[in-house]
Amino acid sequence: MLAALESINLGDEVYGECTTTQSLESRIASLLGKPSALFVLSGTMANQLALRALLVQPPHSILLDSRSHVQLHEAGGVASLSQAVTVPVVPSNGKYLTLEDVHRHVILGSDIHFAPTRVISLENTIGGVIMPAEEVRRIGEWARGEGIKVHLDGARLWDACSVPEPSAELLGEYAGHVDSVSVCFSKSLGAPVGSCIAGDERTIASARHMRKAIGGGLRQAGILTAMARVGVEEVFFGGKLGWANAFAKVLAEKWTALGGGFTLPVDTNMLWLDLEGRGIDDGIWEEAIEEGGVRIWGDRIRLIVENSPEAVEKAKKVMEIACKAADERRANGLEKGDGKEGKVGESTYGQSN
Ligand SMILES: *Cc1c(COP(=O)(O)O)cnc(C)c1O
Repeated sequence: MLAALESINLGDEVYGECTTTQSLESRIASLLGKPSALFVLSGTMANQLALRALLVQPPHSILLDSRSHVQLHEAGGVASLSQAVTVPVVPSNGKYLTLEDVHRHVILGSDIHFAPTRVISLENTIGGVIMPAEEVRRIGEWARGEGIKVHLDGARLWDACSVPEPSAELLGEYAGHVDSVSVCFSKSLGAPVGSCIAGDERTIASARHMRKAIGGGLRQAGILTAMARVGVEEVFFGGKLGWANAFAKVLAEKWTALGGGFTLPVDTNMLWLDLEGRGIDDGIWEEAIEEGGVRIWGDRIRLIVENSPEAVEKAKKVMEIACKAADERRANGLEKGDGKEGKVGESTYGQSN
């Protein structure tokens, strides 16, 4: 990525003079099968501008997964930037939204009590779990018939399209079922900064206008877009995302061998460990992380291409240490018990909080 900086164009992107940025935008537009694309500073900015561009005026609402980034992690941006209310939906299959979930929660018609659904905002992967293209197609097709727009937060779409091999065709297929899609260069692809939104000319022109209004018009954007481009060509098409998925598999096997379960399937590069089910409380887990010497955030382990095999070994060690501590605590609890094993076990877990 640093080497790519030697041959960048430093034209002023606000005036449309940066050919490095234009080249990235047209590459992303064509990969996603959309007429136009826009480079922005973050995944949040991408979602917020796309939603702002798809919506017209209130009263309006956005239907989305209750766990989605737009709902939980974007500082309530749709309220301030788009004056929209969200309708968060818990997916009934526990993994991703389906058309049946949408049917149950969508707001149609002109009853003045409600803010009608104008956009359905999907996310793929969501927590590393792949939303099948077929489900995106079902929702997209139905929404089109109702005049509802569909946005896809594809910050992790690269991951969904890298199993088992990187597939440009699958990227295009997902994007083909929705009106706007965002992809991120700084998460799985490892570039320092940036995301893109792709959609039709009107949507992207509107997002570009709004991007300027919130201070996201960039001058020498080529510095960022040259590095993002390397992420697309070398990390995604170069097949390196497969490394992260392979690391995740290794850790998943280890965890299973230690008797652990998962709260979500391991489809790509993320593991959601059922720590509680394995008798591991926060105290045990944090101590094991400290001792193992690798950074892990709560019950989620996320693997990226930059991880070293040593880091993966350390994560295995964390799992071993934690399971051993949980087993020891349990055995001690049972020894001290009065024969009512279940009860003693429960109170042992309870103490630890
Ligand atoms: C990280 C993430 C974003 C936001 O990206 P930022 O660059 O941190 O603003 C949006 N959507 C999903 C699914 C993400 O994982």
